[in-house]
Amino acid sequence: MRVIIAKGSGFCFGVKRALAIVEEALGEERGPFYTLGPLIHNPQVVDRLSRRGLKVIDNLKGIKAGTLIIRSHGLPTATIEIAKKRGLKIVDATCPYVKRAQERARELEAKGYQLVIVGDRGHPEVESMASEKSIVLQRPSQVEKMESYSRIGVVAQTTQSLENFKEIVKRLRSKTKELKVHATICSAVSRQQRSTRELAKKVDLMLIIGGRNSANTKRLAQISKEFTETYHIERPFEIDLRWLKNREIVGISGGASTPEWLIDEVREKVKSYGN
Ligand code: SF4
Repeated sequence: MRVIIAKGSGFCFGVKRALAIVEEALGEERGPFYTLGPLIHNPQVVDRLSRRGLKVIDNLKGIKAGTLIIRSHGLPTATIEIAKKRGLKIVDATCPYVKRAQERARELEAKGYQLVIVGDRGHPEVESMASEKSIVLQRPSQVEKMESYSRIGVVAQTTQSLENFKEIVKRLRSKTKELKVHATICSAVSRQQRSTRELAKKVDLMLIIGGRNSANTKRLAQISKEFTETYHIERPFEIDLRWLKNREIVGISGGASTPEWLIDEVREKVKSYGN
């Protein structure tokens, strides 16, 4: 049995950067340490960090001292202001690509465009870009129900698929005279999607590794399923050995928040079955 790992699998630049910033903060800044929501969408990495003192909280209620680490998805400006007023030290690990998308969203609104965010409603990154007036669209079919506006400005959640974004933009043209588009999709994510698609076409089975709460990992699994039998797992023990029976080539891909050691563990487990 051959095992092939999709190119570019695992931690992206933004996640590596966020982890490095956290490591430094844990060593140097004033505790206790908090993140609003998990630092990245991978429970195994979050567990490791919690053992080193990084607490995941849902809101700032009762938090009066310590350091708030802004995760790679970013935070709404209003939340950051509240944290500052409470005297918390802020360590910003927002990915620069997410920051760019946030800035584009704010610029569009400042210039009077109706902001449309193509992304998953409720996802923290989308929340960090949204305002009271912005519209979030997940699927092209949702455009039909939208009102028309004289000027519309569009940005994307960085992990959106380019196909979905393009289709929504195409349909939005019927809703406005002036459409300004910022395709703020992360190139690391598009590369991972491309390499997963290419690998899925060649193999008998795909294993997609990553958090079940990770939007980009879920998207990799959706893409892969279009071409071959696919399972989304978080840990090697979830592999049902019956999946591997009579397979010649097994493909593996991991999302942007999946650590390399997990990908290695899954590869070893599959290989040991093959042997
Ligand atoms: S996927 Fe892209 S935008 Fe998201 S954290 Fe990674 S590098 Fe940044």
